[in-house]
Amino acid sequence: MSDSFSPSRRLLIKGIAAVCLLSVSRVGFTAQAQMVAVRVWPASSYTRITLESNIPLVYRQFALTSPDRIVIDIDDLNLNSVLSNINTLVQADDPYIKQLRVGQFDKKTVRLVIELKQGVNPNMFTLKPIAEFKNRLVVDLYPARPSSIDDDPLLALLEEYNKGELSQTDHTPPPARSNNAVIVVLDPGHGGEDPGAIGYNKTREKDIVLQIARRVRDLIKKEPTMTVYMTRNEDVFLPLKVRVAKARALHADLFISIHADAFNRREAKGSSVYALSTRGASSSAASYLAQTQNESDEIGGVSRSGDEYLDHTILDLVQKTTTSNSLVLGAQILAQMKKINPLHKKTVEQAGFAVLKAPDVPSVLVETAFISNIAEERKLKTAAFQNQVAKAILDGIKGYIKLRKI
Ligand SMILES: [Zn+2]
Repeated sequence: MSDSFSPSRRLLIKGIAAVCLLSVSRVGFTAQAQMVAVRVWPASSYTRITLESNIPLVYRQFALTSPDRIVIDIDDLNLNSVLSNINTLVQADDPYIKQLRVGQFDKKTVRLVIELKQGVNPNMFTLKPIAEFKNRLVVDLYPARPSSIDDDPLLALLEEYNKGELSQTDHTPPPARSNNAVIVVLDPGHGGEDPGAIGYNKTREKDIVLQIARRVRDLIKKEPTMTVYMTRNEDVFLPLKVRVAKARALHADLFISIHADAFNRREAKGSSVYALSTRGASSSAASYLAQTQNESDEIGGVSRSGDEYLDHTILDLVQKTTTSNSLVLGAQILAQMKKINPLHKKTVEQAGFAVLKAPDVPSVLVETAFISNIAEERKLKTAAFQNQVAKAILDGIKGYIKLRKI
């Protein structure tokens, strides 16, 4: 229920008490919450509802059957137009939500009713303000019975993650494979609540990188000696750890995270490729980039985080070999990118990217171009450039396979 609230609630009450001491003329002692935005992110793995408010929301949640529904009562809130239009956000093909109903239950309480299409496991949590987001109450709806025909490990990994049980330190060797195909996992960055960088003309990084990843996937599918998977193939937010865990669960040989860069100076442009560093960054720019990319979890919104990963010295040796392979893979892709776009950095840079932390999978992050640069933003939207990037990534992978004879 809403226990997770208590610390911020306490802080809030403290804050109100302080304000009231200063301003005795204020009427009433309860802060009134305002709903500032409501979003629904339907996806096959889970649907997320985000309620964004000026102050943290105090809520209670319970489930009812026939029909299956989830009821959320929010305290000290008046129904406004933002919230009363919530049902218009539900898409007909949402796998989980049939409809959303909202009403003023009593003077102080707003009731939100989620009518369901199937049994769900709800996961609710709150997020503190970050970036342009204010306080968020997040309702994630996972299927109660994951379909058994689906061999995608994503749902199981998300479930483990939500329970805080996702272990990345398990490094048992993958089972023998039936063929020798090289398994490539493509990771389009960001998604769902996390738009990634946004261009001058409002192009969203999460959309562009998904389009590019699909093009790379289509090229790899034509290669008889390669198998390809994607961490996400829809507009869904996935925690960084889950992306890494999915690559490992699929026994990836190579992991390629695809992004579009941004900087506060619009002149910044060009392509670059990054690998993990466990011992500091190769430049302050690389360190800054890793820091902003690692914020993805907070922006997209996770109920748990924490990284016990690099403390395991036993993994250091594995990681060393992997990092040197990542640098070779990165150099191969960079050499191909050079043919289609000026390079922002002429060598593979390194920093502590959380999404590159699979200890045994050579992993790189490709910054295809700068979405914050107006000319490159325009280019990133074109099928022609997206296809060139896709081909460059494929040729880089091929170069690596040849060199490493995998
Ligand atoms: Zn990014």
